[in-house]
Amino acid sequence: MDSFCYPLYVELIKLELGIEAYDGTREQLFLLRAFLILVFGDIPAISLMMRMKGHNGLRPCRMCNIRGVTVDKVHYVPLSRSCVVQTKDVPLLGPREYRATNLPLRTHDQMMQQAKEVHDAITQTSADNLAKEYGIKGIPALSHLSSLTFPTSFPFDFMHLIWENTLKNLILFWTGKFKDIDHKGKGYHIAKHIWEEIGRDTVACGATIPASFGAPVPNISKEGVTMTSEMYTNWTLFIAPVVLKGRFPQPKYYDHFMRLVETIKLCLALELTDEMIKQIGKGFKLWVEDYEKLYYEKKQERLSTCPLTIHALLHIADSIKECGPVWAYWAYPMERHCNTLLPAIRSRRHPYAAIAAFVTAMAQINQIRLIYDAEEQLNLNPDKIDKSYSPPGCKLCSFPLYCRRTYLL
Ligand SMILES: [Zn+2]
Repeated sequence: MDSFCYPLYVELIKLELGIEAYDGTREQLFLLRAFLILVFGDIPAISLMMRMKGHNGLRPCRMCNIRGVTVDKVHYVPLSRSCVVQTKDVPLLGPREYRATNLPLRTHDQMMQQAKEVHDAITQTSADNLAKEYGIKGIPALSHLSSLTFPTSFPFDFMHLIWENTLKNLILFWTGKFKDIDHKGKGYHIAKHIWEEIGRDTVACGATIPASFGAPVPNISKEGVTMTSEMYTNWTLFIAPVVLKGRFPQPKYYDHFMRLVETIKLCLALELTDEMIKQIGKGFKLWVEDYEKLYYEKKQERLSTCPLTIHALLHIADSIKECGPVWAYWAYPMERHCNTLLPAIRSRRHPYAAIAAFVTAMAQINQIRLIYDAEEQLNLNPDKIDKSYSPPGCKLCSFPLYCRRTYLL
C-alpha cells in the first residue's frame, strides 16, 4: 500500500511545506499550503493505510488495545468473556471483562513507539511477534505528515459500519442465517412467512416515499436481491420501525433495534452539541452491552456474534468529538464517485488514462456549472431531477439522501 500511495505522500508533504502559487487579486506569489486532516474508508483499507493488522489481528481494533478471543484463527471482541473456557483452540489472554466506558485506548505516541519497535526488531521472528502483540506491522508512511494523529484522524466509517455490517448482520440473525450458530427458538428469529410479509410491506412503501429520498427499497426477503447502502439507510430509518413492529417472537428485540435507530438518527444530525455526543456515546454503550445479552448470550459457542464491527460502535462518539459529525467523513460521496468512474473504464488497454481524462472533464464541467450558475443548462441527466421538489441539503454532496446535486453526477 505504501509503495502504491508513495506519489500521493510526496505530494502531501510538498503541500505541507508549501508550494508557490499566484494570487490574482494581489498580483503576487504566495506559499499555498494544504494539510490532510482525516483519512477514512472501510476497515481493511484503513488498516493498510495505518500499517495495522486490522480485523484479523489479535488486537483488531485500531482505536483501542482490546485483545481478541481467538476461535478457529478468528479474533472476536466481546466486552465480556467470563464465559470463555481457556483451551488450546481458545487461548484467552487479557482481562475477563472490558468496560465500555473505560476501554484501553491507543494513543499516537504509544502507536509510534510500537511501530518503531517492530521496525527496529533485529530478527524477522521478533518483528512478527511484536507485530502480532501490538497489531501494528511497522511505521506507516502517513505518520510523516504532521497534520495527522494516530488513531484519531482515522475514524470508523459510518456507512460501512452501520449499513454494510451491523444492519446486514442483524437481518441475518432475524432470518436465522447468521453463521452456523443455533437460532432455533430464539426471540429474534422471525418465521419465514412473516419475513416474506415484511418484504412485501417494504415494497409497498415505495409508492409513498418521495423519489428524492433515493431508489425504492426492493423486497428485502427475496434471495439475491441487490440492496445498496442508501436502501439499507432508508429501510432502517423510515420503513423497518413500522414493518418490524410486533413481528419478533420477543418484543425486547424490537425495542433493542429501535434504540439503535434512535442513536443512528442522533448521529445524522447536521449539528451536534456536547450533550448530544454524550447521548450518542451512552446510546451505543447500552446497545452493545444489551447486544451481548440478547445475541451473544455470553456463551462460548456464540462468540462469533461479536465481530469488530459491533465493538467499533463504542468508538463512534469519540470519533464525532475528534472529527465532527459522521456525515462529514462517511463513504457515500466516495462510493458514488467510484460508481461514476465505471463508464469511463471502457478501454482495457489504457484504463488509467481513460479514468484520468474522465475525472478531469468532470472537474472542468463542475467548475463551469458553479462559476456560471449553469446547473440546468449543463445538466447531463435532466430526466432524473424532480423540479417540483426542493429538498434541504448541501451542495457538496456530503448529505446524499437529501442532495439534489448527487443526481447530476
Ligand atoms: Zn476498540
